[in-house]
Amino acid sequence: MIPYGRQDINKADIAAVIEVLQSDWLTQGPVVPRFERAIVDKVGSKYAVAVNSATSALHIACLALDLGPGDWLWTSPNTFVASANCGLYCGARVDFVDIDPRTYNMSVEALTTKLAQAEQLGTLPKIVVPVHFAGQSCDMASIYELAQKYGFKVIEDASHAIGGRYKNQSVGCCAYSDITVFSFHPVKIITTGEGGMALTNNPQLTERLQLFRSHGITRNPPQMQNTSMGSWYYEQLELGFNYRMTDMQAALGLSQLERLDEFVSRRHVLASVYNEVLIDLPLVLPFQEKDCYSAFHLYVVQIDPLHSPLDRCKLFEYLRAEGVFVNVHYIPIHTQPYYQRMNFHPGQFRVSEQYYENALTLPLFFGLGDTQQAKVVELLRKALQV
Ligand SMILES: *Cc1c(COP(=O)(O)O)cnc(C)c1O
Repeated sequence: MIPYGRQDINKADIAAVIEVLQSDWLTQGPVVPRFERAIVDKVGSKYAVAVNSATSALHIACLALDLGPGDWLWTSPNTFVASANCGLYCGARVDFVDIDPRTYNMSVEALTTKLAQAEQLGTLPKIVVPVHFAGQSCDMASIYELAQKYGFKVIEDASHAIGGRYKNQSVGCCAYSDITVFSFHPVKIITTGEGGMALTNNPQLTERLQLFRSHGITRNPPQMQNTSMGSWYYEQLELGFNYRMTDMQAALGLSQLERLDEFVSRRHVLASVYNEVLIDLPLVLPFQEKDCYSAFHLYVVQIDPLHSPLDRCKLFEYLRAEGVFVNVHYIPIHTQPYYQRMNFHPGQFRVSEQYYENALTLPLFFGLGDTQQAKVVELLRKALQV
């Protein structure tokens, strides 16, 4: 079976975790801060707060930015449900901005129109969450400009995009956002098992992210309301959570981070092979913006329904039956039953719905061998050549 994505764990990764297992701390030791510093050094933000998932990072990012009841959070319908759910966790209302038909990222045009309407209605969002779909950055410069004009905050959901670049800066540097979030789930670019991170250039936001990560508690005297009574003393200042990353996870993350560039380069090599050999098939291949270097978390094609002998569902079933575990990213969030109960309905965000009808994610990961890739290509040719 060839999966669509999987982790790559080497001996150094294993040794790094074992070292922590044999040390004094399994969690809340020195390795989490070391991992945070290494990420900051790599992507160029000022601060980083490691947590136990990107979902947690999105949640505390919203809380740090004071999202609450009466507020709106907007994101893309073409993403994992966590990008929207974080708004609901905070009691805010969620809405969506349709995607660009070429990049499948949030459409700046649709965002511009929706903001103008929301201004009239008094329903402007407090937070917009652009998602760097498949590892390619959104048009952050334009989104940032709109954020200045309309006064909303920006959280980049860069769960797909660590190792990617935008306008000659690393994704994660927060040049165009308040907070950027990474995921370290095993299907993503680098992994800690479960894990995530929130990055920012703002020291006050960092303090709040750290508070919400660990029960809302501080042990740092300058942050306290009262005078510290001694080194046992701590204060709870907010209603936080236990969203901490363990030192075992951070050790794996540190070791994986050393291989980030190698991981992304290999993904680019595999993607360019697909680009070359699939060009004559009835497929829409991934479009790449000139000022982006994608992390290529996903290689997504659209089946051209007018020229393909098989539709997406048939092709999906065929490939899976042949041992190629293709996937589909994403079911538009507003069509999920839970969201339909909030009065969303199919037909509302047509570009994402049309894209979803024909989308197929091909296998793409560091350890995908040339022979395995050739098998995927051969099956696609067999199924799609007329
Ligand atoms: C994977 C993913 C998440 C959630 O990441 P976890 O670390 O599994 O919580 C959020 N947003 C996007 C776009 C993702 O792909």
